[in-house]
Amino acid sequence: MRLSSYQTRKNYQKTEAYVHLTRRERRQAVSDIAGLISNWGVARLFAECIDKVHFDPTIAMRSVHEQAFEQVVSRFEQYLKNSDEGYGLLIHDNNQTVAKRHTELMKTFLRKGTLWTKIRHIIETPMFVDSQLTSMVQLADLCAYALRRYLENGEEELVDLVFRRADRRGQIAVGVRHFTSPGCLCKICASH
Ligand SMILES: [Zn+2]
Repeated sequence: MRLSSYQTRKNYQKTEAYVHLTRRERRQAVSDIAGLISNWGVARLFAECIDKVHFDPTIAMRSVHEQAFEQVVSRFEQYLKNSDEGYGLLIHDNNQTVAKRHTELMKTFLRKGTLWTKIRHIIETPMFVDSQLTSMVQLADLCAYALRRYLENGEEELVDLVFRRADRRGQIAVGVRHFTSPGCLCKICASH
């Protein structure tokens, strides 16, 4: 009950700032921001897009959410290790449902590493912020939205902009992965 009223309030707040805009104006605002992100040279995008139909939690021995988080943490660590960026900080959206789980998972990763890598370059103290007050988290949300709209609805306009910021090794977009059936022909799989 507490959670649902919190969620309703959050949803309402999300719409409040945009309520004076028409649908077209909102759409334009989102694509303008995606355009800015696409040219933001220092930004790197890390994401894991899991098609639930092809994901078996028993084989993976983790939930969809855990797998996605572990992948993103591993890729961020690899990026820091391979670049001269020094240390990195993860900023989490302070969402009641995932805050506790993220903290627990991060503790395990810092102690034992992820399945793919030891964690040596990510600062251990987790940082949680209110996404309403933090534009960086909202930009990350916009990127997630763009990836989702592409994979679920085939909409290319936004993804073509934000995908330019995917972390790359040479021509390969290592920062973003689509976990789905083998032989997927989407542009994320083609670039990974
Ligand atoms: Zn794909």
